[in-house]
Amino acid sequence: MPRVYVVGAGPGDPELVTVRALRLIESADVLVYDRLIPMELLKRAKPNAELIYVGKEPGRHVMEQGEINNLLLRKALEGKLVVRLHGGDPFVFGRGFEECSFLISNGVECEVVPGVTSAIAAPEQFLIPILLRGVSSSLAIVTGREDPGKGFREVDFRRLATSVGTIIILMGASETCRIALELIQGGLSEATPVAIVTRAYMENSRVLFITLGELAKCQVAVENPSVIIVGRSVSLSPLYNTSNPIRH
Ligand code: SAH
Repeated sequence: MPRVYVVGAGPGDPELVTVRALRLIESADVLVYDRLIPMELLKRAKPNAELIYVGKEPGRHVMEQGEINNLLLRKALEGKLVVRLHGGDPFVFGRGFEECSFLISNGVECEVVPGVTSAIAAPEQFLIPILLRGVSSSLAIVTGREDPGKGFREVDFRRLATSVGTIIILMGASETCRIALELIQGGLSEATPVAIVTRAYMENSRVLFITLGELAKCQVAVENPSVIIVGRSVSLSPLYNTSNPIRH
């Protein structure tokens, strides 16, 4: 039975992939890959492997999801070993699940290889203990940007504000200011520490420590890709007081 491997490629450093992911990359006939994968991994592909970029940049898609699904299906039915590489973990706001469902409903097997998600890796790179006894006993991983076509917002930041220890926001770069305001309206203090980690485990990765109150002033431009971390655990990072261009 034909099979597609839906594989997590980790947050950016080519060493942060699983052994299974690397083996599959090395044996793939077809590698279908995203924008935020460690590109160096592609060098591990067989010389005659077909490499197909299907990245989605904010606001611009090289290929629509339906086309990606069909591409995976077609290549698998040709008898090729198909590896679909996702940044981070394929089921954390990736379209890995849609791809697997589509393949399975068309008689193709789908195997998921989990990856290190940026949601967890980004705070860890800067030593932020997202879950720590006595400090933060729960976390929420949420999207900062939602499908405008839906007409409503699924993430209610006001209600989320005081219900979890640490809030981790992906895809929030363009919405940081609104999110900060809503979290304050929801009951979080303006002094709540926030970390914005940009390009985690990639070249030029960096962190900005700031407070929710400062962020709500809408003066910080957040680059893509960034993970935003909100909560008390942020201030526990040993780096918290060292690289702090904005906090007063
Ligand atoms: N499946 C991916 C997430 C896809 S959504 C994962 O598990 O990591 C894309 C969002 O992930 C980006 O908007 C950004 O918020 C975040 N992201 C992915 N890689 C990142 C990185 N290296 N550094 C910071 N944020 C990253």
